[in-house]
Amino acid sequence: MNILFMGPPGAGKGTQAERIVNKYNLPHISTGDMFRAAIANQTELGMTAKKFMDEGHLVPDDVTIGIVRERLSEADCQHGFLLDGFPRTVEQAKALDEIMINLSKKIDYVINIEVDLSVLETRLTGRRICKTCGATYHVMFNPPEQADVCTKCQGELYQRKDDHAETVASRLAVYTNQTKPLLAYYEVTGNLVHINGLGEIDDVFAAIQKALGSNS
Ligand code: ADP
Ligand code: AMP
Repeated sequence: MNILFMGPPGAGKGTQAERIVNKYNLPHISTGDMFRAAIANQTELGMTAKKFMDEGHLVPDDVTIGIVRERLSEADCQHGFLLDGFPRTVEQAKALDEIMINLSKKIDYVINIEVDLSVLETRLTGRRICKTCGATYHVMFNPPEQADVCTKCQGELYQRKDDHAETVASRLAVYTNQTKPLLAYYEVTGNLVHINGLGEIDDVFAAIQKALGSNS
């Protein structure tokens, strides 16, 4: 099963992806995570990406498409994958179509997690991530058992630099102008499913499983 997760920053893509990949045993391919790993490892890719990410802008298409092309051709993607945060521009969507043709694959589901823009600022500024295992929390909506400590692995939690209020507005504008138009692109393919992302995390998870043809 090849799945795309769409939706604005803060919609819950990463939170739901964590659960879906566990349930269906798929590799979770998040371009944002790949860039953050490159920054942590101080690679050339990381240095390029950081400039754009810190401003809330998109990393250029040629760079982003290149890393996804490489990643999707790896062996663990052969039996399915969940792409989270890619594509984010029409150019990336067209490149993905071409990558899929070359790999003789198709996208089975495009899951669009819908959340009103007005709640996203609170979701993003309250998000905390585990430095060790990458698990996502929210200070109010999904708090760890102990403040600033990961419930799963006891790792230290941190706030992403681009989740500070100054950068959030720019990321939401980028979504509206560059990524939202992609919904029309996928509307015509017939495999776009809209999911209400405003409910409880468990309810959103149940709705996604149902859309994927399983509610067990
Ligand atoms: P995305 O990957 O789409 O940017 P995340 O999954 O990281 O979004 O979620 C953004 C923030 O909102 C996180 O702090 C997460 O814990 C919280 N969150 C995710 N889903 C829900 C939900 N259904 N209700 C309330 N908060 C949520
Ligand atoms: P995310 O973790 O998905 O919220 O992404 C964090 C940041 O990484 C974004 O604000 C962009 O700067 C960059 N990024 C992630 N995915 C892409 C993409 N598909 N195209 C361009 N930039 C991206």
